[in-house]
Amino acid sequence: MNNKFQRVYVEKIDCTSCSKCASLYPEYFRLDKDGSSETHNNGENINDAIVLESDWNKIEEAMNECPGECIHWK
Ligand code: SF4
Repeated sequence: MNNKFQRVYVEKIDCTSCSKCASLYPEYFRLDKDGSSETHNNGENINDAIVLESDWNKIEEAMNECPGECIHWK
């Protein structure tokens, strides 16, 4: 089994609150009470989400779609 993973976060100050990431992959992105995106794993690891290698393409898609260019690997 391949257990490679990376952690992903949103640089909130650059987030436009467009919610595109949360619409695409709600399992990794959600909007906080102020409307900025943050990453998570089932509501935990807030803005420090773990992503297994099999889902890296999802995050990269969200990065490419993000108008704020504010989704980053740690
Ligand atoms: S796609 Fe980018 S700008 Fe839009 S809510 Fe997500 S992190 Fe923010």
